[in-house]
Amino acid sequence: MADRDVRIPLHAGPPARPVIAGNWKMNKGPSEARDFCGQFADAYEPHSDRSVLLFPPTIAFVTVADALAGRRDIRLGVQDVHWEEQGAFTGAISAPMARDAGAEFALVGHSERRHVFGETEEETGLKVAAVFEAGLLPVLCVGETIEERRAGKVEAVILRQLEAGLSGLSGARIAGVMIAYEPVWAIGTGETATPDDAAAAHGTLRTWLQERVPAAAIPILYGGSVKPDNATDLLAASDVDGLLVGGASLDPVSFAQIAAS
Ligand code: PEP
Repeated sequence: MADRDVRIPLHAGPPARPVIAGNWKMNKGPSEARDFCGQFADAYEPHSDRSVLLFPPTIAFVTVADALAGRRDIRLGVQDVHWEEQGAFTGAISAPMARDAGAEFALVGHSERRHVFGETEEETGLKVAAVFEAGLLPVLCVGETIEERRAGKVEAVILRQLEAGLSGLSGARIAGVMIAYEPVWAIGTGETATPDDAAAAHGTLRTWLQERVPAAAIPILYGGSVKPDNATDLLAASDVDGLLVGGASLDPVSFAQIAAS
């Protein structure tokens, strides 16, 4: 088994754009995760002009870190953290624990955390701060429901979520954040935002950030039913700096195709 310490601490800084991130959600235990890593490493050659991030489930995290120890081009994160460092929070993990395991990134406020687990906007703010405090980089996810879109509230919703997630942070930390725009109606549904829809939402987010910090370099990823056949068009949209891929990241060949888009 590879020495896991080679991944600790990485902190190689912000990832090169475009950023192609795979969120496995509650899929793949250690055995399946190890198989994926072997197949993905065969299917995807390192590219210096982009970054690949993987967010395995916590129980498979160390397996993935070990299996990909020779692939420093593939960087790792966790799907969620608690905002406390330790304590009586059965089932949860903290940001320092994630860092100790070799994570560099943490998703915060994924729509499933918000809508399935009832995570509040205040909690996303606590989590983003805890992630920075532990030396990881947060990927703050924002996105509107279909009802909110139909009601013309896209801008209001994503800016409210953005502001809550970044509340209380210094300018330097805001400049170090990564954002994922993930319309809820596009996640796992097969329905994708058009490149124009994505560009409009990303432009809104970039403008808000730009009013506070130099924001040109902040990666804003699009997520929602990204597949090999729509990845190139989405990546070409204005202000889209990468992709957060759920379902299609579970298949090593599909994810390799998206990563090479
Ligand atoms: C996600 O989980 O962040 C996601 C975008 O899922 P999917 O690609 O399956 O829509």
